[in-house]
Amino acid sequence: MNKTTIEWVKNPDGTQGYTWNPITGCLNGCDYCYARKLANGRLKSRYLANWDIAHIKGEIIDPALRQALNNPFYPRFWPEKLEQPLKRKMPAGIFVCDMSDLFGIGIPEQWTHSVFNFIEKCPQHRFYLLTKQPQNLAKFSPFPDNCWVGVTATDAQMFIGAGHALENIHAKVKYISAEPLLDWDLGGSGFIATMLKQWGINWIISGARTSRNYWDLAAHNLDGSLIRDRIEMYGKIWTLQPKEEWVNEIISAAEKVNIPVFMKDNLKPLPRTDTPFIQEMPA
Ligand code: SF4
Repeated sequence: MNKTTIEWVKNPDGTQGYTWNPITGCLNGCDYCYARKLANGRLKSRYLANWDIAHIKGEIIDPALRQALNNPFYPRFWPEKLEQPLKRKMPAGIFVCDMSDLFGIGIPEQWTHSVFNFIEKCPQHRFYLLTKQPQNLAKFSPFPDNCWVGVTATDAQMFIGAGHALENIHAKVKYISAEPLLDWDLGGSGFIATMLKQWGINWIISGARTSRNYWDLAAHNLDGSLIRDRIEMYGKIWTLQPKEEWVNEIISAAEKVNIPVFMKDNLKPLPRTDTPFIQEMPA
């Protein structure tokens, strides 16, 4: 486990939490994926040395599988890391698989069950789960009480899909991560609030898309001139800022249904700084 700088991953005492990666690699294919860049960069040789990859045990004969072996971001299992949370007695907040998606495409269910086996052995910790494949959550519900279960929704369509999936699972905390917030035309805070209440959502996170490379952000947009107006520096990185009305709609909706919102620092200028709901965690 490593200490993390992910702002919303907090220990129960409010200090920064940890990441835990017993599974790495992902086939979800998000074009803004920072984990893929890391896997192909400084982690490449370490990841390629692990042959415990999805669907492969023993002899490698299939060329497609051979190719998978040469892809550092292909799903890999690290059973030796499973016990890491057990070794920490102080209650911690642990983000599970920030280099993968625990419920993602190509992740064997058996691996996910192995991770849950250790989550259940650590009731002192809070485990943050986050997926972009919400249709796979129901197979693992009900979730242990020490799991906060979230779905990423970068746009309106994903928001609806996230909500329907979360509505149908049992978890103590259910959250939606609108990060990166890319497109959010949902028709106003009233609709969002109604859906949040109906789905039983307890928390919302939001943040901007980031990159070290300006053209990563500028090149992906249909209306380049408009979108480029929303690209700003944040420290040493570039951000694609969401429209201010999208952010304010999320905050207003959360206020209406009385749930906390965590707005990442990279949303500049931080909207509605008067609201008491910003940068809070569920109780
Ligand atoms: S789900 Fe996460 S790890 Fe997988 S490709 Fe998307 S951003 Fe990367």
